[in-house]
Amino acid sequence: MAKSKARTNKPLDRDYFKYKDRPKPKNAKDLTPCCNQDVDHEVLNVRVKSDWELIEDHIEDKLREYSDTESITPVSCKKCGRLLNYVSVLKDPKSKGGWFNQT
Ligand SMILES: [Zn+2]
Repeated sequence: MAKSKARTNKPLDRDYFKYKDRPKPKNAKDLTPCCNQDVDHEVLNVRVKSDWELIEDHIEDKLREYSDTESITPVSCKKCGRLLNYVSVLKDPKSKGGWFNQT
């Protein structure tokens, strides 16, 4: 009788089912080699046109909402284009050079 591989008293997670019928790689999680992201984690990709439009919309919304934000950079992986982070640059309050600061 074949020995059961049942993992009793162990949580059965997605990985358990993913690797049920094939050997699990040494790395517990599949990470992208270029930016170390979990491949199962679906993220926006700047190279996908529809994703890029979502990113643009998001940034436009934020710029409208936060008037002290100068710009927002969508930081993405240079290799695969996965969106990793947003970096905001705030306006420097000391260097007000606009119409509103003229005396
Ligand atoms: Zn990448």
